[in-house]
Amino acid sequence: MATPIGNLRDITLRALDILSAANLIICEDTRVTRKLLTRYGIATRSISYNDHNAPKVLPGLMERLNHGESLALVSDAGTPLISDPGFKLVEAATQQGIPVFPVPGANAALAGLVASGLPTDSFFFAGFLPPKQGARRARLTELAEIPGSLVFYESANRLAASLDDMQTVLGDRPASVAREITKLHEEVIRGSLVYLAENYAQQGAPRGEIVIVVGPPLQRDASDEDVHAALLEALQTMSVRDAAASISRDFGRARRDVYAIAIGLSRKDASA
Ligand code: SAM
Repeated sequence: MATPIGNLRDITLRALDILSAANLIICEDTRVTRKLLTRYGIATRSISYNDHNAPKVLPGLMERLNHGESLALVSDAGTPLISDPGFKLVEAATQQGIPVFPVPGANAALAGLVASGLPTDSFFFAGFLPPKQGARRARLTELAEIPGSLVFYESANRLAASLDDMQTVLGDRPASVAREITKLHEEVIRGSLVYLAENYAQQGAPRGEIVIVVGPPLQRDASDEDVHAALLEALQTMSVRDAAASISRDFGRARRDVYAIAIGLSRKDASA
């Protein structure tokens, strides 16, 4: 089941039919879903379901399903189960042989991806990154080799810090920040990770909800020797920091890896 991500008009006719016909609508916040139901004149009863009340509510829902009732699951926004409640319910239903019918509709991750201008043939949805820098960088390191675009949800408050960690760990890949998709202040800002990180560090946290998309690892066939040679040349005129930034960008290598090589090279140079 799917609900709009921001604009109440982004709901499918099939979803409205199913919401009308269901015995019960399972939602995150009944007050949020009520707005949608009121707008479309749907009188079906709704109950609240989330990760906290799941142990209490789930057995009753399973009983209703086992008695042949038809339950519709919705999120406050977008598609249930995608960084939203619903997995345990669907898992329990499938384990008991109860049919589950998806009702495709709005989803922020896919909307952000298709508007990004980045490759869509292969992508990995990584959800929210950990809030603390150490864990976030460790997670990004795990994701670095995935041969496709990376799609993240992020809070506005952490946007600049996450973009900065992304350019450090993933290198200066092309990326996009989609904000408030389908809403009044919708915008998509595209640019390199270094540009986006600097942009949001300067302008501060934007308002609203955000999807970050990062392009696949840059396909550069330069060898380590090529990187060393370019670094040596750059170090003639630049600081270690600037040389590492420039070469990581040019060669699509993670900035912290190039920085470590640059430090080594500059020490060798100093002791020669
Ligand atoms: N299940 C939802 C879906 O399918 O889109 C996502 C729910 S998740 C709790 C919420 C996160 O999705 C937000 O923190 C934000 O990162 C992203 N998001 C949701 N709506 C958005 C929108 N209209 N524009 C940009 N990002 C959005």
